[in-house]
Amino acid sequence: MTGAPTQLLIDGALVAGGGGAFDTVNPATEEAIGAAADGDAADLDRAIAAARTAFDTSDWGRDTALRVHCLRQLRDALNDEIETLREITIAEVGAPRSLTYRGQLQTPVDDLGFPAATAESYPWQVDLGVAAPMGIATARTVVREPFGVVGAITPWNFPHQVTFAKIGPALAAGNTVVLKPAPDTPWCAAEVGRIIAEKTDFPPGVVNIVTASDHRIGAQLAQDPRVDVVSFTGSTATGRSVMTAAAQTIKKVFLELGGKSAFVILDDAELSAACAAAASTVAMHAGQGCALTTRLLVPRERYGEALDAVAAAMSRVAVGDPNDPKTLCGPLISAKQRDRVQSYLDLAIAEGGTFHCGGGRPAGLDRGFFIEPTVIAGLTNQARVAREEIFGPVLVVLAHDGDADALRIANDSPYGLSATVFGSAERAARMASQLRAGTVNVNGGMWYSADVPFGGYKQSGVGREMGLAGFEEYLETKVVATAVPGAQH
Ligand code: NAD
Repeated sequence: MTGAPTQLLIDGALVAGGGGAFDTVNPATEEAIGAAADGDAADLDRAIAAARTAFDTSDWGRDTALRVHCLRQLRDALNDEIETLREITIAEVGAPRSLTYRGQLQTPVDDLGFPAATAESYPWQVDLGVAAPMGIATARTVVREPFGVVGAITPWNFPHQVTFAKIGPALAAGNTVVLKPAPDTPWCAAEVGRIIAEKTDFPPGVVNIVTASDHRIGAQLAQDPRVDVVSFTGSTATGRSVMTAAAQTIKKVFLELGGKSAFVILDDAELSAACAAAASTVAMHAGQGCALTTRLLVPRERYGEALDAVAAAMSRVAVGDPNDPKTLCGPLISAKQRDRVQSYLDLAIAEGGTFHCGGGRPAGLDRGFFIEPTVIAGLTNQARVAREEIFGPVLVVLAHDGDADALRIANDSPYGLSATVFGSAERAARMASQLRAGTVNVNGGMWYSADVPFGGYKQSGVGREMGLAGFEEYLETKVVATAVPGAQH
């Protein structure tokens, strides 16, 4: 996978980066697989200008049929090239092949149909009828309109999922977009740009994609006064700085941030099945998922039994080459992330914890940014490894003393992205209603779907992505009040 660097998409044209090009690295081999255009500040400036002009001077925001057509065309064009995208995703993201048939690629591509269908059937204008507020007879209409220019900033862990969950609804709602992907996965975004330029009818400037090695390009996008909305997915720390930057021009900010989600096993649950589910969840894609449940809360009297069940399930997880169809746990994205996870493993020991399994590099994998699926035991929820997002295949197992205690521990977190509870139907449902999290899996239910809103409580985010709520994040609300002369009230 070498050759010429990929290009930026600015104002409908594929162009080289003003900053030259930068390497993209296969995290399973540590080798550069090619290069991507390195967008600089001037490139981003031109991209924002193109998006602004396209919004202000074209019919894009009013032509729903064109938007629906372009989004379906993009979905179909992506599907036509899905095998190329799959190979890039495996090589660049280190995503296990099996996951590309679902959440890493195929599902988010297909899900582009949802915002298109939503735009088609959406009540853009609602007539509230005539009334006489303050004695003035008036016909009232509520109109939903796009905001304008959306700046989309994305992470590397599920690049297609996050990209399409942002640009799909933003474009369907009538906005124009500047996408700034993570420096670790530029090819995934650049391929989308190429396909848009070569195979779709999106008017120039409606979608712009600026890959860049420098995080400051993201900060520039958040600050620019021509951008109306910043839609950000990434760490809570970066989200905080995006919100601060956006505050200077009072932009709407939409944030999908980190998590430290709890998996609660009640004392009437089938323990070994629940532990197996917890283990495979945290090992999936080497734990690089914001909504993965990384704190396992088990009944204190069955703590040892739960540790053994989780470790047994983890030992069955296929770790290694993401190309292998059996692999569930591939590499971490970079040496930096691998070192960060390793530093948390060192911290766990320093805090008095023990590894019930894992704790280092998997045997036989000398290259690649791999970490073994790891179970940390012997700590409380006050330990830093139980409070901070590790973003690796690491499960902290904590003891609880009944439902009330489990609920208290689960909610004792600065985050609130997701949660899982396993137990008898009535008790599990009661706990689900009290968990402070944006999504709750009860006894293995699946909340991820194009029509389901996703997002976090507390420091896990602001707003919702996907579903009708995710579409409406990208809409302004205007009221038109027209006086009705001579109306009787
Ligand atoms: P990150 O916060 O380091 O970077 C995310 C994006 O922000 C990248 O494109 C980066 O270049 C850009 N960026 C960096 N500094 C910036 C700044 N000052 N201003 C504007 N943009 C800036 O996150 P990451 O390491 O790429 O991704 C991992 C994190 O993302 C984890 O914390 C994970 O939980 C989170 N995440 C959350 C969700 C969710 O939906 N809640 C989904 C995926 C990932």
